[in-house]
Amino acid sequence: MYAYGPVPSRRLGRSLGVSPIPRKTCSYNCIYCQLGQTNKLQVKRESFYPKEDILSDIEKVMNPANVDYITFVGDGEPTLCKDLGWLIKSCKQQWQIPVAVITNGSLFFMEDVRQDLKSSDVVLPTLDAGSEEVYRTLNRPHASIGFEEMLQGQVDFRKEYPGKIWLEVMLVKGVNDSDESLVEIKNAIEQVKPDRIYISVPIRPPAKPGVRPPEPGRIIRAHEIFGTTPDALDLTDRESGEFGLDNFPDLRTTIIEICSRHPLREDQARDIDTRFSGAESIDTMLSDGSLVRVEYQNVSYLLPANFIRKTKQNNLR
Ligand code: SF4
Repeated sequence: MYAYGPVPSRRLGRSLGVSPIPRKTCSYNCIYCQLGQTNKLQVKRESFYPKEDILSDIEKVMNPANVDYITFVGDGEPTLCKDLGWLIKSCKQQWQIPVAVITNGSLFFMEDVRQDLKSSDVVLPTLDAGSEEVYRTLNRPHASIGFEEMLQGQVDFRKEYPGKIWLEVMLVKGVNDSDESLVEIKNAIEQVKPDRIYISVPIRPPAKPGVRPPEPGRIIRAHEIFGTTPDALDLTDRESGEFGLDNFPDLRTTIIEICSRHPLREDQARDIDTRFSGAESIDTMLSDGSLVRVEYQNVSYLLPANFIRKTKQNNLR
């Protein structure tokens, strides 16, 4: 399944997600990643799947009345998909729904990536480091991408892109939340000139043990340092809203599909449970071992068991 949802998004409303790449294929291996460790760290763009199949999958789950954005997001970095431009244009032609791309912004130095993104309406890149050192610690990029090259790519993209850029800054305790780091990030943001900034913190179980959100005072300090041009908006609370379940056949498929891309809080999973009838329930999936409960910041999350196994294996490497 390449398309799923719509899922409730704090930035995009009812967002129909499209993942055109294999799970955890990424140019980064961020310590805060909610999808676990990167399986394939790469910068080479590829056609991972037939683009026509991806489009027909979007068609299958599409209910235009129930979707605010078609969002290319990926279980990794969507700009690694060589067909992204074709897919965005095809969606725009077929449905009158805005297209968003959530990306780590690391490949904007490539002209073909910038060209591919041009037909989208909103691009949401990440920029949460202002120096090479923090960049390497936090985002753990592919060895061929340097901080300055990544930043210059985002600056060049801003000059060429007619749509909106909503930048996301993820703050991690003790890594990029000092005054020095925040000022460096602000300097980088000023070069990119986004239309919006979102400040977020890790709210789901991270790839690297020990990753924590900053203290509330540091988040307030980030708002002070980033200032008001544009306003930095807060994404540090939990998301709410209903998941679109129309195209899922049963509870098991629904929970595994959504959890693999978007770790679910237990209360969200139990809410989904009430919307299906049948013998299976969240409790049967927990007891037969297909789901595992993980506590993070005093909140209970449910993750697919194979997801946990892979993350543990990768953490041991
Ligand atoms: S957070 Fe995004 S950019 Fe970072 S490793 Fe995960 S998928 Fe890749």
